[in-house]
Amino acid sequence: MIGLLGGTFDPIHYGHLRTALDVQQELVLSEMRLIPLSDPPHRPAPSSTPEQRLALLQIAIADEPRLTIDDRELKRGGKSYTVDTLLSLKAEQPDETLCLLLGSDAFNGFHLWHQPEQILELAHLVVMQRPGEPDPLHYHDRLTHLADDLRAKTAGLILPMAVTQLEISATRIRQMIKQGHSPRYLLPDAVLDEITRQKLYHSA
Ligand code: ATP
Repeated sequence: MIGLLGGTFDPIHYGHLRTALDVQQELVLSEMRLIPLSDPPHRPAPSSTPEQRLALLQIAIADEPRLTIDDRELKRGGKSYTVDTLLSLKAEQPDETLCLLLGSDAFNGFHLWHQPEQILELAHLVVMQRPGEPDPLHYHDRLTHLADDLRAKTAGLILPMAVTQLEISATRIRQMIKQGHSPRYLLPDAVLDEITRQKLYHSA
């Protein structure tokens, strides 16, 4: 069973990394893939290039074998639709169970995504929540609170999971850099060093 966390990662930070590791450990995933998006349908284009975002991701996970990078959306280019990514993953590994990680905010808009029903035919959803947050609102018939259920079916279940709460956003990190403030301790030092070296986000 593999986990998938899509994002712009502009830049990658500890909110992404800790959450990904929380879910990998909790579900005993054989792999937890971070999938950088090329051109997300629901938001403005990222301020750094795909190559720069990918380089920062590679630095961030260099010493963590439980996290991997899947760059198929960057290679594909154009609009990134999750359903296309899942179809391509399934074509490669038809027997693998896929778990798509989503924050509870993102899940609240999930029914408005491109082909949500087909996404649920291809993957389970893991909805990352604050501890004690109520169950997600939509798709009640698919809800489970048992992680083991995800191994009994190949797709279509929705599992809410409490993850470490870190109030970190890439937007805030970009703002801090632009304002000349240090975002140190919000992201790995090696990632920050590379941002500084490449002078990223200074005029974002
Ligand atoms: P931005 O501020 O540019 O919108 P972001 O920090 O939210 O970026 P994204 O790349 O958009 O980062 O996020 C990718 C995924 O990681 C999303 O599912 C998002 O919900 C999740 N995520 C982002 N920040 C955190 C955080 N601090 N804790 C847990 N999950 C997070």
